[in-house]
Amino acid sequence: MTTSRREFLSAGALLAVGMGSAGLSDGRVEAQDKERGAVEYKAPARPVIVTRVTGDNTIAEAYAMLEKGADTLDAALHIGQGREDDPNDHSVGLGGLPNEDGVVQLDACVMHGPTRQAGSVAALENICHAALLAKTVMEKTGHVMIVGEGVEKFAIAEGFQKENLLTDDARKMWLLWKEHGKGWWGPGIDSPEWKPPAGAPKAELMPRHPTREQMAMVTERMRDLYALADRMGIEPRLRREAVMQVMWPTTGTIHVSAVNAKGEMSGATTTSGLAWKIPGRVGDSAIIGAGCYTDQNVGSAGATGSGEENIKVAGAHTIVEQMRVGASPKDAGMEALRRIAANYNHDMTRLRYIDMIYYIVRRDGAYAGVSLWSTDEWGKRKNFVVHDGTQRTEDCDYLFEGTPQNLHSI
Ligand code: ASP
Repeated sequence: MTTSRREFLSAGALLAVGMGSAGLSDGRVEAQDKERGAVEYKAPARPVIVTRVTGDNTIAEAYAMLEKGADTLDAALHIGQGREDDPNDHSVGLGGLPNEDGVVQLDACVMHGPTRQAGSVAALENICHAALLAKTVMEKTGHVMIVGEGVEKFAIAEGFQKENLLTDDARKMWLLWKEHGKGWWGPGIDSPEWKPPAGAPKAELMPRHPTREQMAMVTERMRDLYALADRMGIEPRLRREAVMQVMWPTTGTIHVSAVNAKGEMSGATTTSGLAWKIPGRVGDSAIIGAGCYTDQNVGSAGATGSGEENIKVAGAHTIVEQMRVGASPKDAGMEALRRIAANYNHDMTRLRYIDMIYYIVRRDGAYAGVSLWSTDEWGKRKNFVVHDGTQRTEDCDYLFEGTPQNLHSI
């Protein structure tokens, strides 16, 4: 015998009433939380937003939205959309670097603290506002995650505009990569079969920056790529950037975590993922608990960097769980980074090729940005942006001193 939807729903309603009388709303849940060591965080004095440098006004605008009472997720999406719309930001939305077939595939996820809802999209093509679409999945369906062809169809049904996300510049970068670039096939760095690239220093001699031998290899490769770009007719204005993107493809993504003065919070992450990825590859940015996690009682966190590593430590969730039992945002973030290092048994010959930044805000407004390595490839300290009434860029706390290397560059 099958149960009709109606019977099922009314049985659910009875069950809910039963649970109510058993006291789920009489404060016992909170008491049990406390017994388990969960800390109760009060709302902050003012809203706080944590994200990455955007180079536009959207962070200040989002802050003004929060001050005027806008929903925290809408404020977070406002920042994400600024990046998604920018054709010169090659890490998200329009202008994102494509996969190995030359197709831009986007991942995004959102979590809304007050309603404790989540939404996610992955391997999304032809639709620019991936994070808003993730919110639409959250609001309009009984699902959390929709991917690929299905999510494109869903987007069009919901009135999203179909557009080609591969800009001419990104297409030329991809063509150059195709001629001379390295992809993601072969054993990954977590495989026992993986071998460090030629010229890589031994773990015990690990310098902070590349060895002279590596520098020579990098320079030679750059020279070859410049010559190739010239032969391929890539115009001089784009040549340098194209070479850089082949050797050090943009890692960027954008994560935003926000809390308002009522203590309501949300998180959103949106990305075009790793450049030149294998078609269909989904990274951490679409995975609730890895690229983004928000718990209304505790805090919100998200990540940019090596998605595969972040998935394996459920980074954002790990951070929120640490804060639940009293960790500061910095200590919670460091714990997630240490778990990445532990997954590699602290083998620096491999960790050297991993990059990670966590953006963290606790419900009480305490915040942090933490990175696996201290500096980027230009020797600049890894940083993040916070707005808590004043907008500023702060250096990340970090686990290892030095610069991560990029497997594409040698
Ligand atoms: N985390 C993103 C991914 O793995 C990439 C990035 O942040 O650069 O797809």
